[in-house]
Amino acid sequence: MKSEHYTQAERELLMQKVQMQMSQKRFEHVLGVEKTAVALAEKYGASPVKASIAALTHDYAKERSDEEFQLVIRRDGFKLDLLNWNNAIWHGLVGADFVQRELEIDDEEILQAIRLHTTGAAKMSLLDKIIYVADYIEPGRTFPGVVEAREIAMIDLDAAVAYETKHTLLHLIETEAVIYPKTIETYNFWVAKYRRELP
Ligand code: GDP
Ligand code: FE
Ligand code: FE
Repeated sequence: MKSEHYTQAERELLMQKVQMQMSQKRFEHVLGVEKTAVALAEKYGASPVKASIAALTHDYAKERSDEEFQLVIRRDGFKLDLLNWNNAIWHGLVGADFVQRELEIDDEEILQAIRLHTTGAAKMSLLDKIIYVADYIEPGRTFPGVVEAREIAMIDLDAAVAYETKHTLLHLIETEAVIYPKTIETYNFWVAKYRRELP
């Protein structure tokens, strides 16, 4: 699909393909991310078409089996260290390849936003930041801090990336989850290095 020719009919077809891959609850999350991502794209000057496509497809592979991810990681030349991780890390990083292959979306900016949507990265494009933040603040999210995250996102997208990164990491530590190195890189860049100077 070419993002220059994104009609209402194409959007609806893409929505149907995505909906078939997931529970109704997850599909509602995806629609919330799309609405939020398009609003952020309009506010910060990114392509609303790319924001819509990336948002609709960001969790496309989330309900695939571990076996399918493991097969693709081995078959398609991913770093084998990925086999030590799980769906939380795979569904974006490896999931982008499912989107490319099965939905024929070849736009590298969209694919990269899908790859980075869970962990973030030190270097993120405007679209990467929009999808990362929209995934966190979409209207269906209810965790503590989400209201503040939404307020920050409307004022300063980079500050919203920092806020989300810090709070995701706090949550992972609180639950004693294993932390993917890229998540730490994101923290080092966006929270530790980028933090505002004290007055
Ligand atoms: P979702 O797919 O819409 O639920 O949201 P995400 O793709 O952002 O996150 C998926 C899951 O991965 C969430 O439960 C996050 O807390 C979790 N997650 C994010 N970063 C890491 C990490 O570094 N390590 C681990 N183990 N989980 C992470
Ligand atoms: Fe996700
Ligand atoms: Fe998501």
